Amino acid sequence: MDHCHTSSLISLEQALEKLLVQAVTLTQTEIISLTQSAGRITATDIISPINVPPFDNSAMDGYAVRLADLNGNQALPIAGKAFAGAPFQGEWPAGSCIRIMTGAPIPAGADAVIMQEQVEVTESGIRFSYPAQQGQNIRTIGEDIAQNAVVLPKGTKLSTAQLPVIASLGIAKVKVIRRLKVAIFSTGDELQAIGEPLQAGQIYDTNRFAVRLMLEKLDCEVIDLGVIPDNPDALRDAFAEADKQVDLVISSGGASVGEADYTKPILEEVGKINFWKLAIKPGKPFAFGKLENAWFCGLPGNPVSAVLTFYQLVQPLIARLSGFTAWQPPMRLNAKAITPLKKSPGRLDFQRGTASINEHGELEVQTTGHQGSHIFSSYSLGNCFIVLERERGHITAGETVQIEFFNHLLKNQ
Ligand code: AMP
Ligand code: MG
Repeated sequence: MDHCHTSSLISLEQALEKLLVQAVTLTQTEIISLTQSAGRITATDIISPINVPPFDNSAMDGYAVRLADLNGNQALPIAGKAFAGAPFQGEWPAGSCIRIMTGAPIPAGADAVIMQEQVEVTESGIRFSYPAQQGQNIRTIGEDIAQNAVVLPKGTKLSTAQLPVIASLGIAKVKVIRRLKVAIFSTGDELQAIGEPLQAGQIYDTNRFAVRLMLEKLDCEVIDLGVIPDNPDALRDAFAEADKQVDLVISSGGASVGEADYTKPILEEVGKINFWKLAIKPGKPFAFGKLENAWFCGLPGNPVSAVLTFYQLVQPLIARLSGFTAWQPPMRLNAKAITPLKKSPGRLDFQRGTASINEHGELEVQTTGHQGSHIFSSYSLGNCFIVLERERGHITAGETVQIEFFNHLLKNQ
């Protein structure tokens, strides 16, 4: 494709900017149990009600001492014991030490814990000959998290990295943004449901299944409206039905300029929709806008394009709508192409590739083969997008290219 032909296309960055500037985050929240909150997004900062650790405690099994008692190098008798969960109680006479276990509260007045491997046990007590320092082996109150500190900002998606931290504060309930409700349907007279035999000219509906899976990974509530035939009245009804129920409607197919492509005229009638021809490959046609109530995204019909545009555009949109402010776009890394890659200048290309580390520790990538927008197996063969800049032409083996590893939407590690 030449430059004249592609100059009217809008870039991915422009499309994302237009989309994100309009998107308005949900405001409704709910308070749920911490144990039910994996995948949800915090609606407020999480503030620590306590210090962690809540008291000075021992990092070692050993002996709590007052440094002043160690000067003479004489053995110190043991005045008592401190266990995790059972602090030392009573008088601690000068010139003695306290046997202490990991996690036990530091007895008042102690200024170090000497690990048991560094002492000599004698008949008259414990002899400390290793040099000791103030505060040694003492975990101090609040050194992990101070009381009233912001532990997690609003807009954090809760997962294994965060939930145990909240649990360590004793917080049992969290305020989260409510789940985004999303309706999905496919358009096309040729689409057959999985499990039914194919009639002449039919294909199975890949997109609705793919989109549903990705929405579930994004923790959305999905309403599946099935396949809508290529018929203006049926489409109008589907949009009206979906609009009543959800925050976001996602359709696939029917958005180009063929004779059975009714999505565009109907949407122009029922909403405020932008149709974009994107300068990306695959995935040129993409629609975004607002119906009466719900946001709308129209994905291209070809399955590779539908998934790519979902991944690159709908994923950040959903992050914005659902208040996931900490969301980061996929990281791009440099890799050496070890196979040639076919490319014409004009569009940003997201080819599917397989990246690996070679014997020199360098990242390299090869194509998954045929890059047609109907070859869905390129996703299952690959583990990354090879992102080739808009103006770039064919790539020869050995050139540096950028890759984006597939995230959890496409592949579990
Ligand atoms: P369209 O955008 O409706 O013109 O569709 C473009 C191409 O994608 C055609 O080959 C369609 O048959 C195909 N297609 C459309 N929707 C789906 C779907 N849900 N699953 C698989 N292929 C589809
Ligand atoms: Mg169609």
